Amino acid sequence: MININCEMMSWPEYQQHIEQGAAVFLPVGAHEQHGPHLPMATDAIFSQRICERVALPLGGIVLPVQRYGYKSQARSGGGQTFCGTVSLDGATLTNTVLDILRELARHGVKQCVIVNGHVENQWFLIEAIELVQRELAALNQSMKVIRAEYWDFTPEGVYEQIFAGDFPGVDLEHAALIETSMMLYLHPELVRQGLIPNDPLAQFPPYDVYPQNGRGVPKSGVLAPAADASAEKGELLVNSICNSMIEGLRADLDKKASV
Ligand code: ZN
Ligand code: MN
Repeated sequence: MININCEMMSWPEYQQHIEQGAAVFLPVGAHEQHGPHLPMATDAIFSQRICERVALPLGGIVLPVQRYGYKSQARSGGGQTFCGTVSLDGATLTNTVLDILRELARHGVKQCVIVNGHVENQWFLIEAIELVQRELAALNQSMKVIRAEYWDFTPEGVYEQIFAGDFPGVDLEHAALIETSMMLYLHPELVRQGLIPNDPLAQFPPYDVYPQNGRGVPKSGVLAPAADASAEKGELLVNSICNSMIEGLRADLDKKASV
């Protein structure tokens, strides 16, 4: 994948891609606890790997992953009470992504795809995109930006297949069956197999209390059972997500010959 990773390119190589109209992909993740069995870079790794697989057939190129994300929340990532998690203020994330988008616009990039791998980032990414759109409009310039959470591309029927009808919802899937399976497929060497917990489904009230106190969050940091994870399930998830993302983006991105 070296040939589509911007950080490995020289600037003239990068410039050539941009002049040919390549879409520039920005993966965004988090540095967040993912249970005793997965690395803290899990969300960053998934957004990066998915960007690479999707950008390649679309003639796109991939920026370095934004490794830090917005604050972990109890009901979607176990929250901020865990040792290890390093999170940004919302304004910091928005301004970081806004700066990146400004630079892309300066390079002459015409289309950008932000692929998010961490639930809590969503609105701060949207804000960065809205702000750059306002700036560019005032200058009579434009850059198409597409933003997506990778899990939204999971085709209908795949969750039923994987969970045998017991799908707890994407938020509670933190470090659980989906993410463990995807890591077993993409990077089995990063999964501490013997440490995969099988905590029951976390129970939360339908509201959040601050300061965060970790109430309802299992000690492991895993919000749903993970014991049934497998590389086969991960392969099905990653491949079906990437295929539907490629198909969806192909319709919206301006055409460019595949690299
Ligand atoms: Zn995650
Ligand atoms: Mn996360």
